[in-house]
Amino acid sequence: MSADVELTLRGPQAYALARKVLQAMEAHKVWPTPLNFELWLHYVSGDEESPLTTEINQLIESGEPFTDTVSEHLAAQYLPKARLNGEILDAGDALSKELDSVTRAIESARETSEAYGQTLATASKSIDTGDAKAIKAMVESLTTATHRVQEENKTLETQLADTTAEVSRLREHLEMVRRDAMTDALTNLANRKAFDEALEKACAQADASGETLTLAVIDIDHFKSFNDTWGHQTGDQVIRYVASVIGRAGEHPRVAARYGGEEFAVIFPGENARVAVAVLEEVREEVASRILKRRSTNEDLGAVTVSSGLAERQPGEPVAALLERADAALYASKRAGRNRTSTADPIASAA
Ligand code: GH3
Ligand code: MG
Ligand code: MG
Repeated sequence: MSADVELTLRGPQAYALARKVLQAMEAHKVWPTPLNFELWLHYVSGDEESPLTTEINQLIESGEPFTDTVSEHLAAQYLPKARLNGEILDAGDALSKELDSVTRAIESARETSEAYGQTLATASKSIDTGDAKAIKAMVESLTTATHRVQEENKTLETQLADTTAEVSRLREHLEMVRRDAMTDALTNLANRKAFDEALEKACAQADASGETLTLAVIDIDHFKSFNDTWGHQTGDQVIRYVASVIGRAGEHPRVAARYGGEEFAVIFPGENARVAVAVLEEVREEVASRILKRRSTNEDLGAVTVSSGLAERQPGEPVAALLERADAALYASKRAGRNRTSTADPIASAA
């Protein structure tokens, strides 16, 4: 049974399944957060060979603890796909129902046409005999048959128009679901999954065109203490604010993403490190210069700062190596005192 069917269970079976999920979570020392529950629901109810189940089994075997980071990784990697699969199944069901009804309408129109053909064949025989009564009866039956064919055609046309409308509605819905699955809900930037895909694609395109590409990672400074002082909700608003600055700097064809909690990434296709540094410096200055205020209380929250690291891709450099270099540059910015932008050494880990 697929996990998507289990997710919509109602009644006693649903409670039994939920108990099973909680038992599995407790047995593996997993905190009962909503995200973990969703992950383990897939684990307990899903296909034993699904990639999520396989990875959870590997984690259990390795004895690695199920920390929040591990859960977030699993969710980013597998849940959008699992959620999307459910939506696609629903849309697919609706679509095949539509197609069924069109097939039935076409079949019925075909039968009517066949009957019409037979009426015509009988009619030509009546003409051959030249019998006036027979000809009159034949004309009447031809009129009826013609009328039936016209009616069928009208029904078929309506049916096709309905189906076309339904198909485009489904297409729009799928497009919306796909966008949702690729967007971070807090910031509206691309999410981690969308970013991973975009980076793979950008690297492949850079290989094909021989162009360069620069990758930047950005992290808010001392954010833990900001949260501790002002609370998580205010922290979320600051993440949104920083995201809006990064989003403006990372407009298409660049890709700006929320990479993790208070970490962001920007892909600069076809742009070198010099250009990217200038953009990141603008972001850094804009964020640092803004005194944040809590609207409800008018309290001064001070300013937040961001640190960045960037790496210009070496020809043929694998995605993982590029990310590693950008991360190392970010770390260098943090070590050097934060609120700065550092560029990775191009030779360091060139492919
Ligand atoms: P550093 O300058 O070294 O980056 O210090 P930091 O405190 O920012 O350290 P780090 O980046 O490791 O910590 C991230 C903190 O960001 C942990 C958590 O309190 C906070 N955080 C992560 N995700 C979110 C989120 O979605 N909302 C809020 N409000 N806070 C988050
Ligand atoms: Mg930070
Ligand atoms: Mg961080």
